[in-house]
Amino acid sequence: PVRTRFAPSPTGFLHLGSLRTALYNYLLAKNTGGQFLLRLEDTDRKRLVKDAEENIYESLKWCGIDYDEGPNSQNQQFGPYRQSDRTKIYQKYIDKLLDNGHAYRCFCPKERLDSLRDSAQKLQPPTTVSYDRNCLHLNHDEIQNNINNGVSYTVRMKSPEIYPPFDDLLHGHINIQPQINSNDRRYDDPILMKSDNLPTYHFANVIDDHLMKITHVIRGEEWLPSTPKHIALYEAFGWDSPKFVHLPLLTSTNDQKLSKRKGDSSVLSLRDKGILPEALVNFSVLFGWSPPREMSEMNHECFTLSEFEKLFNLNYLTKGNAKVDDKKLWFFNKHYLQLRLQNKDELAKIVAQVTEEAESEFGKTNVNEEKIQQILVLCGKSISNLKDFNKTFYYFFEDPVYNRSINSTTFIQNSNKELCIQIVSRLQGHFSKDSFKETMDSIVSELEVPKKTVFETIRFALSESQPGAKIPDLIEILGEEEVHKRIDNALA
Ligand code: GLU
Repeated sequence: PVRTRFAPSPTGFLHLGSLRTALYNYLLAKNTGGQFLLRLEDTDRKRLVKDAEENIYESLKWCGIDYDEGPNSQNQQFGPYRQSDRTKIYQKYIDKLLDNGHAYRCFCPKERLDSLRDSAQKLQPPTTVSYDRNCLHLNHDEIQNNINNGVSYTVRMKSPEIYPPFDDLLHGHINIQPQINSNDRRYDDPILMKSDNLPTYHFANVIDDHLMKITHVIRGEEWLPSTPKHIALYEAFGWDSPKFVHLPLLTSTNDQKLSKRKGDSSVLSLRDKGILPEALVNFSVLFGWSPPREMSEMNHECFTLSEFEKLFNLNYLTKGNAKVDDKKLWFFNKHYLQLRLQNKDELAKIVAQVTEEAESEFGKTNVNEEKIQQILVLCGKSISNLKDFNKTFYYFFEDPVYNRSINSTTFIQNSNKELCIQIVSRLQGHFSKDSFKETMDSIVSELEVPKKTVFETIRFALSESQPGAKIPDLIEILGEEEVHKRIDNALA
C-alpha cells in the first residue's frame, strides 16, 4: 500500500507551503487507499520553537487533515513518531554504518573545521564541500584512544565518488553532484550524527522513512539537493528508496519567495483573519496541481477535501513556481461562505457567532439573532469574510448619521433637495417590501425623474448610501416602522 508522511520540523508555525505538502501527501494516501502519517522532525534542538508542535496539530485538524499515525494518534504501530523519542533507534543504525565502513567518526575540533571551510571558500571555484577526510584515516587504536579520552565526535557518511542519480516523479531524471575541486581533495561527507548524539536531518529522515515503510516522499523543492545524500544512505544500508516528488516553490504575486518568517501566511493566522478551512484547502491544493482536463476546461475550480481525495493523482502535478494570489483566496472564501449560509446547521452556528460579535460592538439591546439571520440570508452574498459583518452592516444596528458618508452628503447637497423631499414624502405611509416595485414605478412616472435618483435617495435615507443590501431587503430587515422613521430623519 502507498504510505506517505508529513514530516515538519517544529521550528515555526505551519504555513501555506507546508500545508500544501501535507495536503498532497494526505491526498495521495487517501486516493490510493493507503496511509498517511505525521512525523515530527525535532532533532535540531536549537531551532525548536515553543508551541510549534501544538500549532501543527491544530492547523492540520482545522483543515480536516487526519493522519492514520502520528505522535498523538492511537495507532503507534511504527512509532514513536517524534524523532527526539527515537534516539536509541538511530544509535543502532549508525553503528551498522560504522561497522560496514559507510560512516566514520570525526574528532576534528571546531577550529580545524572552520579553517577548512574558510580555505574551501578561497578555492577556484569556491565550494562548500570542505572536509579533507582527516579522520577517515585514523586507525582503530587512535579512534579508541579518542573515545576513551572523551574527545567529542560526530559521525560522517563516507560519501560515494559519485552520488547516485534518481528519478523524481515530477522533474524526471536528476543528477546532482557536490561541487568538488579536483586539485584539492575535499569531500562532502555529510554529518549523520552530531556530537550531542542526535541525528541530523539526513540520517533521521532516511532511517524513519525506511522503518515507517514510506513509499512516496512528497516535499518542497528546497530538499532536492539533499535527496542524493539520502539515496546514497539507502544504498549504504542496502535498502530500496521511496519514490520522490519535489514540489515547486510557492511565490507571492510579486515573484518573491514566500517567506515563513513573514508570519502572515501561517495557517492559523489566516484562520484568525476570517479564512474558512474549505477555502484554504481548495486554494492550497491548486498551487501546483490542476484537476483533470475536462474540469479545467469547464473552469471548474471549487473542490472540497473529499472531492480532492477522489481526484488527486500525481500525474496532474504541474511544474513551475506557483503564485500565491490573495484575491483568489478571498474568491474561494466567498464561495464557501455562501455554501455555509445555505446550510441550516452551519447557518445556525454562524448566527450564534456573529450575534456575539455584533452584541459586543452595538450593545445587546440593539442586536437579536433573528435580525442577524435575516441579514445573513438576504445580504450575505455581498461579503467574502464574516469578520466584515459589523463593518459592512453597521447601519442595521445604529441610526444613520447622515453626514458620515461623504457620498451621501454630496448626494443630498448636489441633488435637488426639493426633489428628494418629494420622493421621500411620496414614500411615507405606503412603503413596504410588497408594494416596493409599485411605489417606485409610480414615483418615477409622476415626478419624471430617473429611477437611479429615486433609488439613491432611498438608499441614502435607509443606509447612509452604504451598498451591500438590496432596497427591498433593507426594507424587510429594518421593518416598516424603522423605514419610516429613517425617512423622516433623513429629511429633518
Ligand atoms: N523536516 C523537514 C521539513 O521541515 C522534512 C523534509 C522532508 O519531507 O523530508 O520540511
